[in-house]
Amino acid sequence: MANSNRPSTAIAHIYRGTFVHATEQTALQILEDALLGVDTEGKIAFIGKGEELDKLSQTFGFSLSEVTQLAQHEFFMPGMVDTHIHAPQYSYAGTALDMPLLQWLNTYTFPVESRFKDLKFAQEVYTQVVRRTLRNGTTTACYFATIHTDASLLLGQITNDFGQRALVGKVCMDRNNSVKHYKETIQESQEETCRFIAELLDKKYPLVKPVVTPRFALSCTGALLGQLGAIAKNNNLHIQSHISENMEEVKLVKELFPESESYTDVYHKYNLLTDKTVMAHGCHLSDEELNLFRETGASLSHCPNSNISLCSGLLNVSNVLKHKVKLGLGTDVAGGYSASMLDAVRRTLDTCKFLTIQDPEHHTLPFEEVFRLATLGGSQALSLDNQTGNFEVGKDFDALRVNVAAPGGPIDLIQHEEPKILLEKFLNLGDDRNIMEVYVAGRRVVPFTEQTAE
Ligand SMILES: [Zn+2]
Repeated sequence: MANSNRPSTAIAHIYRGTFVHATEQTALQILEDALLGVDTEGKIAFIGKGEELDKLSQTFGFSLSEVTQLAQHEFFMPGMVDTHIHAPQYSYAGTALDMPLLQWLNTYTFPVESRFKDLKFAQEVYTQVVRRTLRNGTTTACYFATIHTDASLLLGQITNDFGQRALVGKVCMDRNNSVKHYKETIQESQEETCRFIAELLDKKYPLVKPVVTPRFALSCTGALLGQLGAIAKNNNLHIQSHISENMEEVKLVKELFPESESYTDVYHKYNLLTDKTVMAHGCHLSDEELNLFRETGASLSHCPNSNISLCSGLLNVSNVLKHKVKLGLGTDVAGGYSASMLDAVRRTLDTCKFLTIQDPEHHTLPFEEVFRLATLGGSQALSLDNQTGNFEVGKDFDALRVNVAAPGGPIDLIQHEEPKILLEKFLNLGDDRNIMEVYVAGRRVVPFTEQTAE
């Protein structure tokens, strides 16, 4: 039957079952017996109720036999967004957690990152980190690479090959006194950043974009920060860096940039705080600095595993949200030892509870709010919320098919549970064994295909 309202793009997949996601209005919306259609471009074409099946099949032109029915204990949730992860540091994840930040960088991080000049080593580590994060439900990742342009381009290629949505940054640093060979001149940093951006954009990867990446204020001269601010502005690019992670760092930034009113002001002066900026940590920001974040539209990435592991500080998430600063979660591998965003969810809840132990007046976030941060919040923090983050019509279908009762998995269900309980159990107890499938922009990327299998 002809239908004049039929959309121009054909429907590729239809799923029926429980969908859970966050919206602007509510931290957790549960849609039971829902129908979701994905078009051939990987976008969500419709989301409706199961009882509307006949009507939707006529409007969108699919047959009932094409509908994939989720099993009991299964649900779809949006893919998770890791707003801060260092791909090269995955090589030593789970170790080297016995020092505070600055000593940790000098002792472990810089010597390892300097090895990424070797493309073979880079290929091995980058393939592993992309596989591991995807397998654990990270559909979007915001990566730091190293100072090496070709290895950073390789990371872009690998994320594209696996089908992960990614922002990839070649690290910039023209100051480093501890590992002398792991730094650039200001000219190298500027030229190589431009080459990195041009070559990555030239590949026309649909889901992978460059992000301007000054390591942090202590690793960069003011002149380099100014040049990077200009490059980001002229090319309308994302920016990522670190801010106010530990007290020693904050003190040194004050000494190094005496003309700035605060750490946040350093980045602001060099045009590095925009509505496409994400800064990791922010544990020790003042309320005035949080206001500057809100005014500029810049966001924070909360990396609780790293903050605890390196004894950096405890971010007061409630206070950040009260200041209406965009906030996502990050693993910060390898300062954070786990590459899984489920761990970031748990450590965020732990951090809230530490603060409540210290001050019973402190408001502990409900798990629903942390679920929102791991999904929609992350997409907002990366200014990608027009493409991903939840199940809104028109966005890309980035999703995890979760089976809470997966055979051989870590969760035992004693009785029939409602979807909210299933989600809570998955967030607290689940792991990659519960993630049956991962979709990015409508394409199934986990289980791995022949091309992406080992
Ligand atoms: Zn970091």
